[in-house]
Amino acid sequence: MAIESYNPYTGRVLRRFRAFSWSKTERILGQAHRAAAEWRTTSFAHRARLMQRAAALLRERQNELARLMALEMGKPVADGRAEVQKCALTCEYYAQHAEAFLADEEIKSEARRSFIAHEPLGVVLAIMPWNFPFWQVVRFAAPALMAGNVGLLKHASNVPQCALALEKIFHDAGFPPATFRTLLIGSDLVGRLIEDDRVRAVTLTGSEPAGAEVAATAGRQIKKTVLELGGSDAFIVLADADLELAAKTAAQARMINAGQSCIAAKRFIVEKPVVKEFISKMKTHLLALRTGDPLLESTQYGPLARPDLADELTQQVEDSVRQGAKVELYGGQSQPGTALFRPIILSNIKPGQRAYAEELFGPVALILEARDADDAIRLANDSRFGLGASIWTKDAQRGQELARRVEAGAVFINSMVKSSPEMPFGGVKKSGYGRELSYLGIREFVNQKSIWVS
Ligand code: NDP
Repeated sequence: MAIESYNPYTGRVLRRFRAFSWSKTERILGQAHRAAAEWRTTSFAHRARLMQRAAALLRERQNELARLMALEMGKPVADGRAEVQKCALTCEYYAQHAEAFLADEEIKSEARRSFIAHEPLGVVLAIMPWNFPFWQVVRFAAPALMAGNVGLLKHASNVPQCALALEKIFHDAGFPPATFRTLLIGSDLVGRLIEDDRVRAVTLTGSEPAGAEVAATAGRQIKKTVLELGGSDAFIVLADADLELAAKTAAQARMINAGQSCIAAKRFIVEKPVVKEFISKMKTHLLALRTGDPLLESTQYGPLARPDLADELTQQVEDSVRQGAKVELYGGQSQPGTALFRPIILSNIKPGQRAYAEELFGPVALILEARDADDAIRLANDSRFGLGASIWTKDAQRGQELARRVEAGAVFINSMVKSSPEMPFGGVKKSGYGRELSYLGIREFVNQKSIWVS
């Protein structure tokens, strides 16, 4: 894929970038490797000072960064600013807590003293997607840098300016340049990078095929990976739920980032007695959302990030309708090859349809009817994915019992699924493995070293 900024709202190419050659990439890797030896010796207090500065710069530049996201991948500026603020919060969170999260852990044993030390691994390669161009990267970079690792970023080819802006933030904050670098490369050089001994671990957020390929290469090199892949998350509405709130939140949860979020609710599994009313309410909320130019403050959802993603989504919808899905709300593209996609609701979703089995990465809500709560859990679990589900019921105790039966990395009760710095984030099944955020996230890329003193 060409490395270029393409405005999905206007259909214009804004800037093209020349991809780095292997020799340039390899030179940067060498610098990163040398920097890692130095960086690991710095104190937590020093790293925290720089990370706090990065947070301040993110807040200072939030308008400019939101504008870049609007131009490169169509996110409305108000959502862009919120994303940048969340990045700042996460930098502050790890600046404050990294030292405690990685403190030596005393273990009772026969030894005079035995403990676990947490030591950085070195250069970590991060392969990141375009849907949250700043958040996806900061979620990796803040804990990794605080742990004493060094980051190399291979960002998605359609958000090069976001990638460079983030690199500049870390550099302007005072991080030694080689501790965080953006590599403007296509996925063709990724395998070679992973095969290099100087890359010690890899993290990828993106699609299942990309995750499988990267993990296979890393596996052959015996390298740790963290994968955060797709989801087709269940939003379970039981008959006793606050239906108005559930339907309003359902519309928001489906429309996060124009539906292009791994944790956006995608399958709405509703108990039979309330399904009609739920669809009608959700439709009202979806129709009330304003679309338009992502640079305008009034826009609530923008175009999809690329026209080919919209074309693929249309294909998934058309195939599913041919396979028996019923259209409850008409929307979609106005014509092929364009990125704007209006919300669609499909019901009668059954096994054998593409919509039942696949992730639909855009504003298409799937309604599945459940006989009862047990049937709802069965449907929720009948998915290759398992990222984050939500359950709606007035009985919080029952909600918690049901939550334990859902195969997912997270379950939210009476709330949409969201990520926050304190709570671990990640999936099971084809949604990936490993955890980001919280104290678990910072421990993914460290050597948990046992030290035994006789
Ligand atoms: P990809 O998975 O192709 O892209 C994500 C990142 O992985 C990009 O940096 C991409 O680089 C890189 N990449 C892709 N293939 C390889 C490879 N073989 N080896 C190494 N790196 C690779 O996502 P798409 O943009 O194609 O989106 C397609 C689908 O992926 C979506 O419809 C959605 O289902 C899923 N997705 C999930 C996301 C999530 O948050 N979990 C985020 C984005 C997409 P490059 O851009 O250069 O190809």
